[in-house]
Amino acid sequence: MTAHSPTFWLPFCLALLGMAGPSPAAEPAVRPNILFIMIDTLRADHVGCYGYSRPTTPSLDHLATEGVRLEQMMSVSSWTMPSVGSMFTSLYPSQHNIVNTQCRFAKGVTTLASTLRDAGYRTAGVTTNPLVHSKFGYADGFEVYDDFTVMLSADLDLFGDATDGPGAAAPPNEELGRGGVTSPMVNRFAEGFLAKQQGADKPFFLFLLYFDPHADYVPPAPYNTMFGDYGVSPEIGVGIYPRGPAHPYTPAEKKQIVSLYDGEIRNTDEHIGKVLATLDRLGLHDNTVVLVLSDHGEEFWDHDGFLHGDNLFDEQVHVPLLIRYPGQFPPGTVLPHQASHIDVMPTLLDLAGVPIPHQCLGRSLAPVLRDPTAAFPPRIAFLEAQTNSHTDLKGARLPDRKLVHDRLADTYTAFALANDPGENAPLRDQPFPLLPPLRQWTEEMDRAHLLQDATAGAVPVLDQKHLQQLKALGYLR
Ligand SMILES: [Zn+2]
Repeated sequence: MTAHSPTFWLPFCLALLGMAGPSPAAEPAVRPNILFIMIDTLRADHVGCYGYSRPTTPSLDHLATEGVRLEQMMSVSSWTMPSVGSMFTSLYPSQHNIVNTQCRFAKGVTTLASTLRDAGYRTAGVTTNPLVHSKFGYADGFEVYDDFTVMLSADLDLFGDATDGPGAAAPPNEELGRGGVTSPMVNRFAEGFLAKQQGADKPFFLFLLYFDPHADYVPPAPYNTMFGDYGVSPEIGVGIYPRGPAHPYTPAEKKQIVSLYDGEIRNTDEHIGKVLATLDRLGLHDNTVVLVLSDHGEEFWDHDGFLHGDNLFDEQVHVPLLIRYPGQFPPGTVLPHQASHIDVMPTLLDLAGVPIPHQCLGRSLAPVLRDPTAAFPPRIAFLEAQTNSHTDLKGARLPDRKLVHDRLADTYTAFALANDPGENAPLRDQPFPLLPPLRQWTEEMDRAHLLQDATAGAVPVLDQKHLQQLKALGYLR
């Protein structure tokens, strides 16, 4: 076992004690608006500015030239619900309690939106992923939260009568397309909200959740053929979950599926580009922090698996993070540092000049975003996948190494990421430096989870429409 210096252990120990929250930043003269864009299921290495060979993300690539790109952003989990919960609370899943569809945020948990609202922000959000629904607590702190989950919406009549509120305009059914192309609906909400923020007396916090890169892979034309024709019908992108991840796809079908996924990314990127152009047009560019990240990645047979939620390889947990704050961050900066979803809330609050709640376990990235030479000691990113009865993984990652514990099989798998970024050569017969902190964190999470069992809020009751949506996405059987 390798010995570690106190400086290695101190941040970790403080984090476990809930003492690691950075001190509140000085309040700026003018609080910035915050536009928080989450793209569901976007793995970092399919983004152009992260080195992808295909032009999937011209808008995000341009944003990166104007802001900062973090090379090693880690999700806390490889599926949506726990990851978004950690972005919103700066807690790990066992602590905020959204670990499956029978949970909601634990009592007493403070969210990013509620903290900003209480500090005087106008808060609004829209999700097109039915898992990020108000029933689970994700709407806590949002004055307006549109969870008109659009999968199957044409059949389920989720829109009802149109009103003049943001996002209320129901799109024509053909726009939803097969399997749902939902980015236009997010944009409709965003455009409606932003148009009312010109000259507003309050800064805004706007959360947009784009869902299209998530399976099914059904990009509209021209994106359905933009990235290659392998002689397979685009229909292969339909019915991914009913076929299941173990379906024996041919090599050509696999390539077509990846091309369709890339088409979904490009379509989403174009919609994000329109929202950013709207910021410019409305004169909101200079005083708006724009943050773009994903909740998890997607595996395309990198380790003989498909989709997400069942392991902690980097294709499932390495996500993009781009952030722009004109005049505050040096444009075009690339930071090699590793960060985590739990750092999102303290970072945004720090930039807003809002005191960071004591509950936050993450740390603000603001100092290093403003000054890339600022000290930023490496810190372990903890990971987990506890998606179903067959998956119970806990992991720890540093930029150069990773350790994953399969708790059901009680086996450990370690990788030297510096030499083996593809995680193809598990290390054997040597001590794992990440083992003690991983064990300590796991024990802490187990204790937190037991506590939540006793104190959690009421279990959400899902209606038939919502259950049908979750089944269609493969989250329920
Ligand atoms: Zn997701």
